[in-house]
Amino acid sequence: MRSSETTIDTGNYALVIHGGAGTILKERMTSKKEAAYKAALTQALQAGYDILKKGGNSLDAVEAAVIVMEDSPLFNAGKGSVFTNEGKNEMDAAIMDGKSLMAGSVASVTTIKNPIIAAKTVMLKSPHVMMIGAGAEKFAKEQGLNIVDPSYFYTKERWEQLQNAKEKDKIQLDHTDSIKSHSFLKQPENHDYKYGTVGACALDIHGNLAAATSTGGMTNKRFGRVGDAPIIGAGTYANNNSCAVSCTGWGEFFIRNVVAHDVAALVEYKGLNLKDAAEEVVMKKVPALGGDGGLIAIDRKGNIAMPFNTAGMYRGYVKKDGQIVVEIYK
Ligand code: ASP
Repeated sequence: MRSSETTIDTGNYALVIHGGAGTILKERMTSKKEAAYKAALTQALQAGYDILKKGGNSLDAVEAAVIVMEDSPLFNAGKGSVFTNEGKNEMDAAIMDGKSLMAGSVASVTTIKNPIIAAKTVMLKSPHVMMIGAGAEKFAKEQGLNIVDPSYFYTKERWEQLQNAKEKDKIQLDHTDSIKSHSFLKQPENHDYKYGTVGACALDIHGNLAAATSTGGMTNKRFGRVGDAPIIGAGTYANNNSCAVSCTGWGEFFIRNVVAHDVAALVEYKGLNLKDAAEEVVMKKVPALGGDGGLIAIDRKGNIAMPFNTAGMYRGYVKKDGQIVVEIYK
């Protein structure tokens, strides 16, 4: 049976989002900052919920939620993205429709205000799934998307994070010339590291799932590095036969574990429930290789999972009753 033929009108709907996982410790958070994160997560959930409540589709809901977080300087996506080794912002994003299995993604873009809109445009307006760099930017411009000067993405906090990461690299390189000692490849213990990627997964009233992820990648990344977020099946995946998944964490490990698709495969082929499938991958498989992070997932019954193996993960959900729940720590 084609997945497009499996659509049922369940009448149930829900949305789950994340704003990144990492070393997010309560003792290092100010109450002002915590309130700002909670307000931004609430706003993102509300934007997606408003669409779902009106009978809108999950694809539009996840896009709307991600746009709010891309526009907020608090998250590592759109405005507020982390800096590359060369001091640039290079962003990745992906979106996937669980009904048609259509997907779109962009990687290494530097001038598109909302990379998630570009990903959706690639999916809907091109014959392709993934477009990168200058080509993706040219396409976005042709499609009338909002193009900004790269300086739009700058925030002082992310710039300082880059200087700290470079300083750590320098100290480590003074002691060894092994590339493996770079802070980008090996996050030191007690390093105040936050991934900060954003994502959303939704079930709409028509029984359809969708997932979206957007990120600036990892601080101090280099050489045209692309993470898991724009790679369908690694950081982002949706399939009405199983679930929708959006990941955050150390992208290299999420690519190697094909995390988002692995969760869906455990649900579809092994019959695991969503929570067990998500935990199997995040709590066992990713750490077994040495990676860390978390994910959000939702299935067609509206079950939600939000596992993470880091100190915290900005996250939240809203179900049909409209009650918004946001959480940060364990
Ligand atoms: N997964 C992202 C990447 O590796 C980073 C993050 O989640 O913040 O590009």
